[in-house]
Amino acid sequence: MNHLVADVDAAATATYADLFDALSDPTRLAILQHLATGEHRVRDLVEHLGLAQSTVSKHLACLRDCGLVAARPEGRSTVLSLAAAPPLAALLRAAEDLLAATGARVSLCTHLVRPEEG
Ligand SMILES: [Zn+2]
Repeated sequence: MNHLVADVDAAATATYADLFDALSDPTRLAILQHLATGEHRVRDLVEHLGLAQSTVSKHLACLRDCGLVAARPEGRSTVLSLAAAPPLAALLRAAEDLLAATGARVSLCTHLVRPEEG
């Protein structure tokens, strides 16, 4: 295939990488998976994930900045939901398909930096 470098939009590619960075943390993925089942309050997520509130809040701030999670006030609570549920669910399904197709070899890759193991 004759593929000109100019065809590749570097800025768009960097934005792709940012998106996958946002999805690259196990806690953030777990939050998204919980929200995929329905709306949660912050304290629901803290309880369901069994993590410190400060940890959950830090990751929620990231997901909200990234535009992946929406928040609305309800009384004294904040109710969280997926900001773009259909494409995000499709992306997670595609990731499962990709893992099935590749035999989940990513879990064996020694080049990947896994912050949770640090
Ligand atoms: Zn949950």
